[in-house]
Amino acid sequence: MSKIRVMSENLANKIAAGEVVEKCASVVKELVENSIDAGATNIKINLIDGGLTSISIIDNGSGMDKEDATLAFARHATSKIYKDDDLFFIETLGFRGEALASIASVAEVNLETCNADIGTHVHIKGGIMDVVEPTSARIGTSITITNLFYNTPARLKYLKSEATELNNCVRFIEKLALSKPEITFTLTNNDRIVVKTSGSNNLLKTIHEIYGLNVSSNMLEIKASSDDFEVTGFVGKPGILKKNRNHFNTFVNDRIVRNNEINKAINDAYNTYKHEGFYPIVVINIETDPTLVDVNIHPTKQDIKMSKMEELTTLLYKTIKEALYNNLLIPNALVDESLNEVKDNFIAPEVYDKDASVTEVIQTTLDFAEPQEPEETQVKNETFKRLKLYPIGQVHGTYIIAENEDGMFILDQHAAHERVNYEMITKKFKEETPSYTDMLVPLSIELSASDYETFMANKNVLEDLGFKIEEFGINTIIIKSHPTWIAKNFEGDNLRTIVDLVINNGKNFNKERFLDSLAKMVSCKMSIKANEHLSLVQMENLLDDLMKCDNPYNCCHGRPSIMKFTNYELEKMFKRVM
Ligand code: ZN
Ligand code: ZN
Repeated sequence: MSKIRVMSENLANKIAAGEVVEKCASVVKELVENSIDAGATNIKINLIDGGLTSISIIDNGSGMDKEDATLAFARHATSKIYKDDDLFFIETLGFRGEALASIASVAEVNLETCNADIGTHVHIKGGIMDVVEPTSARIGTSITITNLFYNTPARLKYLKSEATELNNCVRFIEKLALSKPEITFTLTNNDRIVVKTSGSNNLLKTIHEIYGLNVSSNMLEIKASSDDFEVTGFVGKPGILKKNRNHFNTFVNDRIVRNNEINKAINDAYNTYKHEGFYPIVVINIETDPTLVDVNIHPTKQDIKMSKMEELTTLLYKTIKEALYNNLLIPNALVDESLNEVKDNFIAPEVYDKDASVTEVIQTTLDFAEPQEPEETQVKNETFKRLKLYPIGQVHGTYIIAENEDGMFILDQHAAHERVNYEMITKKFKEETPSYTDMLVPLSIELSASDYETFMANKNVLEDLGFKIEEFGINTIIIKSHPTWIAKNFEGDNLRTIVDLVINNGKNFNKERFLDSLAKMVSCKMSIKANEHLSLVQMENLLDDLMKCDNPYNCCHGRPSIMKFTNYELEKMFKRVM
């Protein structure tokens, strides 16, 4: 019985609009999604020259009979959609079954497929089917695409270098493997293994197989739900950051998605845990009712729109923030990040292959730790905060050396103090009736006409915080009182900068963003600088204050404030243990 039907013209037109086969990775994507739809549990992707010379997909899915194998290449044929309404659901993967026909019209295709005793071999070139013959085959499908875009020079031009095409394929398969830990994926390029996952159905193990040990042992598990969403997965500790957002692996109902609001919520949750411009590694699946999702806003289907987006972003933000808060995140001073770094910097395939062998070495020499292990070794924040650090002294008037029974700590005194001030100030922001100090000598500031307008339009933000500001002649303001969190000796300098900050936030004034930069700026200005001598008592007070912070590990700009040498590391350094 044939599983493939021919869809209505109307539906075909809708789908045709979304047709995109523009690079090797889009061919890989279509074919691999077909394999997943066919129930495959083992999928091999073999590329030659990054896919430019050939792309082969071999799966152990259900395969096709002769009728389906030929019909699969007909325009508007799809096994996945039966009526218009189905388009708005995303429970099956590649709903554009038409893609196979598109690919076949611009390349050479060899298909061997089998769903029972007799297999079928189909050969198509430029959309013309010239071979359909029985063949012996195992159950499943094997499809090879060569000469992509040979008859459409205009599109051929858009294919990038081998390295770029390979890179795109690898990134896609890595993400897909993370979304489908139950499927075994093997991607090779010129017979060298580039990606390999075991299909263990263990997400942390899959993360290990993709990113290596340094990453998998630095992931925090998350699990939370709201009325409409269930969020599960792993988020990276701030110690392992990347220079781009490629490693935001987000899935909705096991499908790869890309959405700016979701990305922003993830990134915001790491605010002050990391530098601007660095991004965490996360692997997050969101389960929800498919009717809340609209995948059709972008032809590649990775961009989605979602009803109840605010509920989702709030849930994500809260869950990730809690995971970070609840775990000990003091970076070890001695971390071998070399294994981790290779992957980020790869450009040429040779470099990538080198990395693949690194991954293989890890896999064979370091047997994957039990998945629970990283969690067991994580110390919960509450325990940590009760720990006391004892100061020993200061180095170059800049770093504080401290100890406790677990090891030795080095702190950056400015970063530590800035963190303490930042959390103090942001807490004050939330007070309903802010306490304020009248200034002995009110400060008058003269502004340009346009700055004056901008400032006056937004001055209520400052008034809510306890500032008293009045007009004082033409384009001049006078500040009569300020909130108590601005320390006495820091008034003049700070007040001017705060006025500038209001003006710079300018026309599209965003209160949340303004308050955050205000807190960051003032806490930096009021904190001990480098080259400032501290007494042991001052150091002890600072350490105690830091340990009470929600995030004692970073200054408000994400720089580390504290580093640890464990006793074991000290012993190893001095060869007391081998
Ligand atoms: Zn600073
Ligand atoms: Zn800072």
